[in-house]
Amino acid sequence: MTYDILIAGGGPAGMTAALYAARAGKTVAMIEQIAPGGQMMNTPDIDNYPGFEKIAGYELSMKMQAHAESAGAVTIYDQILSLDKKDDLFHLTGNGGVYTAKSVIVCAGAKRRKLGVPGEEEFAGRGVSYCAVCDGNFFRGRVTAVNGGGNTALEDALYLSAICEKVYLIHRRDSFRGSPFLAEKVKNQKNIELILSSVVQSINGDAAVTSLTLQTPSGERIIDTSALFVAVGSIPDTAILPENVARDGNGYILTDEQMRTNIKGLYAAGDLRSSPLKQIVTACSDGAIAATAAANDLA
Ligand code: NAP
Repeated sequence: MTYDILIAGGGPAGMTAALYAARAGKTVAMIEQIAPGGQMMNTPDIDNYPGFEKIAGYELSMKMQAHAESAGAVTIYDQILSLDKKDDLFHLTGNGGVYTAKSVIVCAGAKRRKLGVPGEEEFAGRGVSYCAVCDGNFFRGRVTAVNGGGNTALEDALYLSAICEKVYLIHRRDSFRGSPFLAEKVKNQKNIELILSSVVQSINGDAAVTSLTLQTPSGERIIDTSALFVAVGSIPDTAILPENVARDGNGYILTDEQMRTNIKGLYAAGDLRSSPLKQIVTACSDGAIAATAAANDLA
């Protein structure tokens, strides 16, 4: 079948776009690779989504998907490999087949940035992780480290401090990019040791990670740790999009206020869009605007 609107990616932007497109009376499917929620799925406690003082990322993900499906949106589980436009129709090619639509809203989000230091590839899955909620439990009761200074690093350090003996938080500057509220909580947590103005030079080990070599203001320092959780930001996941889709200097998709890209019928919403704030609530807002614009543009 040819859908009115296909949504590539099932994070908060995609699920909200699916809800709004379905409520606008359009045929809509949301294509998600693994599980609905995106990065939100790996967030233990969300405490800044209005209406919920605290809610688990998993729970909010399930609620959003159920809400979109109750309005008539369909979820398809597939990995999309490419997108192309021919004769005014979009074709999304996935492992499971080709999906066709009059409009597409791309909500593929962003992927974790890598550090690019020796040992990172070698010890991936053996002490190097990009998801504290997914892998933290493997290091319960042990010493771990987190690298980064944004909200993800601060949340990861707090999460790990509850289950690990000790957590080093390594950041390349002496002040945090993340919220002062979280930074204060981290500073007050007795088993978190801050190592500021320092960078990870190498990740060392044998069968698994055993230590990190750091460059600190007072010279080289080696810390013993069983794991390094890398939380140094994200890069937009735009791999499925052709090169003629306009991007900013950092690779994020450029849109107008209605989430329209420079390609007619193609919209972008959420973390892969060039925007000043990337939160669940802004992803939802993007998705609602994109779906409303797409529905109106089809009418
Ligand atoms: P981020 O805000 O971009 O922070 C990335 C951190 O990593 C920065 O502190 C940066 O240092 C550091 N960094 C970047 N490249 C590095 C490198 N090569 N080596 C060492 N350090 C490096 O990323 P994020 O923390 O993943 O957050 C992404 C977005 O999601 C943000 O808008 C954030 O507010 C949002 N978020 C919100 C919540 C929440 O509200 N609960 C939770 C998680 C994420 P500098 O500071 O020196 O640049």
